[in-house]
Amino acid sequence: MTSERRRDPLSGEWRTMATHRQTRTFLPPESSCPLCPTRDAAHPTEVPWPEFDIAVFDNRFPSLTADPPSSQSRPGSPYDVAPSLGATEVIVYSDDHGAALTSLGLDRLQLLVDVWAERYAALGSRDDVEYVFVFENRGEAVGVTLDHPHGQVYAYPEVPPVPARELAVARAHLAEHGTCVLCDVVGAERFAEVRLVAQNDAFLAFVPFAARFPYEVHVVAKRHASSLLDLSDIERRALAAMLHEVVAGYDQLFEFRLPYVMSMHQAPTCDGDWQVISHFHIEFTPVHRSYDRLKYLAGSELGAGAFLNDVMPEQAAADLRAAGTAAAPSAGTPAAGTAAAPAAEPQPAGT
Ligand SMILES: [Zn+2]
Ligand SMILES: [Zn+2]
Ligand SMILES: [Zn+2]
Repeated sequence: MTSERRRDPLSGEWRTMATHRQTRTFLPPESSCPLCPTRDAAHPTEVPWPEFDIAVFDNRFPSLTADPPSSQSRPGSPYDVAPSLGATEVIVYSDDHGAALTSLGLDRLQLLVDVWAERYAALGSRDDVEYVFVFENRGEAVGVTLDHPHGQVYAYPEVPPVPARELAVARAHLAEHGTCVLCDVVGAERFAEVRLVAQNDAFLAFVPFAARFPYEVHVVAKRHASSLLDLSDIERRALAAMLHEVVAGYDQLFEFRLPYVMSMHQAPTCDGDWQVISHFHIEFTPVHRSYDRLKYLAGSELGAGAFLNDVMPEQAAADLRAAGTAAAPSAGTPAAGTAAAPAAEPQPAGT
């Protein structure tokens, strides 16, 4: 078993090598699901209880741990090596193998938000942790190896590249304009309305102006909150309701459970003036560009880091508003202009 972190000398990014993950369980049948409760002591699962609301435990195939094998860089070499310090936890949303985020109910979703906040605080309080990353991979198209509804939390020993870049841009924006960039974005999206997918008292969901993926949606706090810990109970409930609404709309879009990666970006947990530049948000990146076509990362994205998107964000938002209305005909008034939203049209094929 090999596990160590290596710094790429070209990009300066840290990457984790964890060869033991190759043997992890791949799509087991429900009868041997490791995330189901232990209903029979002779066949224990990862969760020792016969029933539970939400369960949190360390990943059995961790890529980052609190007590990793030691690794040392060789002086004079361009290569830096570090131990795989951090944490990888699994959060199981329900003891019901067949449940979905949209079937859990608002109380359970709010409990999930509370669990996220608790893990953010607990892992973030460790001296060796600088960033706590909550995420969910959903669907085989994004590499999910277990069907049972669950998400994950990784704790990293440094701020990872994507949030680090966002924070650097936010810092430059603050220096130039004196404002938080995401506060400005929230204002612009509320004014323009064309990219809105949904909103409630505390959260806004919209397709970003320069989306990377056709049906990308960002869920952003309307006021400047730097992490889950800044959210009141009422705001946490509003977040739970917004997550339900966004995912229900996704599931209605092509009438199947749309695979996605959900990424939560909030303040790093190391020293620094993060409060002013970190604005809590969740990014959903589904990989479909139409009901039967996936967006693959290819030359421009992988080789140059420059995304090409086949669907205009304004059209994607209209499609998602229409899907959301279909998902919840009596769940209140949608945020903007659903009456004019055209039905989803097939996207052009080709590369
Ligand atoms: Zn299960
Ligand atoms: Zn802000
Ligand atoms: Zn972000």
